[in-house]
Amino acid sequence: MSFKDLQLNKPILKAVAESGYQTPTLVQEKTIPLVLAKKDVIASAQTGTGKTAAFALPILQLLFDHQDEAKKAKKVRALIISPTRELAIQIAQNFKTYSAYTNLKTMVIFGGASIDPQIDLLKKGVDIVIATPGRLLDLHKQDQINLDHIEILVLDEADLMLDMGFIDEVSKIERLCPEEKQTLLFSATMPFKVEQLANSILKSPERVEV
Ligand code: AMP
Repeated sequence: MSFKDLQLNKPILKAVAESGYQTPTLVQEKTIPLVLAKKDVIASAQTGTGKTAAFALPILQLLFDHQDEAKKAKKVRALIISPTRELAIQIAQNFKTYSAYTNLKTMVIFGGASIDPQIDLLKKGVDIVIATPGRLLDLHKQDQINLDHIEILVLDEADLMLDMGFIDEVSKIERLCPEEKQTLLFSATMPFKVEQLANSILKSPERVEV
């Protein structure tokens, strides 16, 4: 199977080729068609399996294919929640690489750093935000980020987020997003509490296991 077989469009394929990726990994093969079909997905995949591209590539394609109104309104359209700043930065770097031939803008939000540059970037308008939970909620409380136009929400490393005690924050963020959205949950392990979170948030999810 090739990336082309996964129905990805030209700007995305070009960036993938430049990243040096020859063939999709298993989690990409299984996940990309489900995301493009706008399904909710619960995927058990470890770091190193290529899971970031498994959600980033189809998200970029969905946003790229349906822009007009949302783009004009400068609204955040995809939100990726990550437990740590390091992971958030890494995911944002991947989104930037994969979106090089699109007009989509990505930014990363995390705590422990000055908030003003993050506010300035948000004001300029971004399509995709990768965030750690605490700082995202701070920015929302200060009315600096509007989640009313989120089309796709990703909870990455869900097991780690629960272990780190972010369950209330994650639930709150989910409730701040529109009811009508696509949600993807990635977790290295699937303990009961992750299943519970998935059950409370995802709608008829498709399962991916690698
Ligand atoms: P991840 O599991 O998302 O942390 O990705 C692990 C590493 O695999 C990252 O360095 C990616 O750049 C790389 N990668 C992702 N997809 C592919 C692919 N299809 N072929 C080769 N490398 C990939």
